[in-house]
Amino acid sequence: MTTSAPLFERLALIGTGLIGSSIARAARALGVVDDIVATARSEATRRRVAELGLADRVADTAAEAVAGADLVIACVPIGACGAVAREIGPHLKAGAIVSDVGSVKAAVVEAMAPHLPPAVHFIPAHPVAGTEDSGPDAGFAELFVNRWCILTPAKAANPGAVDRLSQFWKSFGASVEIMSAEHHDLVLAVTSHVPHLIAYNIVGTAFDLRHVTESEILKYSAGGFRDFTRIAASDPTMWRDIFLHNKDAVLEVLGRFNEDLATLTRAIRRGDGETLFNSFSERRAIRRGMIQFGLDAPAPNFRRDGPEPAPEPPMPRPYAGSDDR
Ligand code: NAP
Repeated sequence: MTTSAPLFERLALIGTGLIGSSIARAARALGVVDDIVATARSEATRRRVAELGLADRVADTAAEAVAGADLVIACVPIGACGAVAREIGPHLKAGAIVSDVGSVKAAVVEAMAPHLPPAVHFIPAHPVAGTEDSGPDAGFAELFVNRWCILTPAKAANPGAVDRLSQFWKSFGASVEIMSAEHHDLVLAVTSHVPHLIAYNIVGTAFDLRHVTESEILKYSAGGFRDFTRIAASDPTMWRDIFLHNKDAVLEVLGRFNEDLATLTRAIRRGDGETLFNSFSERRAIRRGMIQFGLDAPAPNFRRDGPEPAPEPPMPRPYAGSDDR
């Protein structure tokens, strides 16, 4: 297992579910922090975090957890970020980097920034990595390997602090991209949020059909529908918060989506094969472009039945062989 020199002395994790516990496991496995303090909302989760040995210390409150930390990461649902910032604000060490992992950025910045003192560096972040599972048992150290982590610092942010947080995420095997919070929200609306909404919707539609039984749906589910059900199994709190907090970008993308869907609907109703063929050919070319850029595999099942593909350079698996998972 490859380890790095510590980038931070003390990491405080506010929220220790899937993402927080994965950060704890990766930071510990790689030695990128000297000391980890974690907390969670409920006593039950705090006890579990202690049992799993995810942190050097488990604090009862967020205020207590951040004392003396030089990196603080809020790993809580988006809707809780403002309250967390209000609680920790007065207890942060001067010069500390404060970050988050929220899947929406502009609303998180708006909720957190007013509560943070000027002496800290606020660098919002979104690791674009996850699973359908939640809680401290669900995390694993390699979650961020070969994934993107998007940082959305304000224009006036300290470049040294941005660089240190970038190094932290890169040490986990992630690639770091920097963009504005607003641009992040539009990009994620189209690549993640609206696709999730479509999955939730189609699964609901399928099970609402009067003349098709549930067992028929389960029995004849082909790959596409099975993937929708997997996505629709995602955490409802997290996804509720995403749609409440990325409303504008999601509505913008949904508006365009509905227009495109109306075009296809009309073509089907009119028996307009040319429109259908042309638009499907265009979309097929997009998929082929993704494969060409190495963003996915050509196999019809996206290689999901087989073993995980070996990671490709230049993104090493820094802790391959770790049994921390
Ligand atoms: P999770 O597994 O459900 O963990 C959430 C953590 O936050 C738990 O420790 C929970 O404590 C705590 N928490 C919940 N509600 C809270 C509140 N109102 N106030 C304070 N703490 C609270 O969630 P997660 O999947 O790690 O997601 C955390 C963040 O990561 C979200 O903002 C999400 O947008 C972002 N994210 C998630 C994914 C993903 O795929 N899951 C991917 C990228 C980013 P208790 O257990 O005690 O309730």
